[in-house]
Amino acid sequence: MFVTRFAPSPTGRLHRGHAFSALTAERAAREAGGRFLLRVEDIDPTRCRPEYEGAIIEDLTWLGLKWEHPVRRQSDHLPEYGAVVEALDRQGLLYRCFRTRKEVLDAIGDAPHGPSEAARPGPHSAEEEAALLAAGRSFAWRLSLDRARDLLGGRAWEALSFIEEGEGPGGERGLIRARPETAGDVVLARKDAGTAYHVAVTHDDALQEITHVVRGCDLFEAAHIQVLIQTLMGWPTPTYRHHRLLSGADGRRYAKRDRSVTLAEIRAAGVAAADLRAELGF
Ligand code: GLU
Repeated sequence: MFVTRFAPSPTGRLHRGHAFSALTAERAAREAGGRFLLRVEDIDPTRCRPEYEGAIIEDLTWLGLKWEHPVRRQSDHLPEYGAVVEALDRQGLLYRCFRTRKEVLDAIGDAPHGPSEAARPGPHSAEEEAALLAAGRSFAWRLSLDRARDLLGGRAWEALSFIEEGEGPGGERGLIRARPETAGDVVLARKDAGTAYHVAVTHDDALQEITHVVRGCDLFEAAHIQVLIQTLMGWPTPTYRHHRLLSGADGRRYAKRDRSVTLAEIRAAGVAAADLRAELGF
């Protein structure tokens, strides 16, 4: 059974690009005789606001979309994501990183072999870590690609891959070899802000038995690290269908910062949902 989802983060009002993405996913489910889910990805308390969740429901309902209930709201399930981080830690795959974002970014600038090397700052020495812990400094848990590779073995590492039925930003499609090293030792949890996106999204895709991830190609790179997490956790890798990003008349892609193209404003201007759907090719 084909199962897909639209998984917005309630960090602002939806715009045309979101409408295109949601309609694309819903149509894929309908054409396959499958299921279409809506998931609210609100794990980042600094950026997400509850009122945007209501606005998302309002906008998608106006567009004429229907999804299954109940809607999964990630902030209601934080302990589940914490358990994933613990499971990876028990496998010895994580290390504490006390460096600030700025320190890591500065290191990227200084790295002789480019960003991918610097995005893997590596564990602190045991003495340094003990001192930083004792000083009460906050830290993030990073996934060690070296340890992940050691655990899986070279052959399994080389075999990490996913099927792209849509297209990456560079036209990538078909069987894609995953390159987790592009993302580096990603942060999977923060002491202050809980779980990171890659953990919650892979957990929920597995839990909800998502067979096809339909989303914008701005998240194509994320698939490379998500395939690794799925493999380490023993979860299946869904098929990916990344779609092109819509751009406005000026050629720039739609983003939440472009307030003039929110669905709420389009609606307020008297545009009918059917007309917007038609404009977007639905
Ligand atoms: N919540 C993510 C976003 O709003 C999308 C996650 C996904 O589709 O994998 O960008």
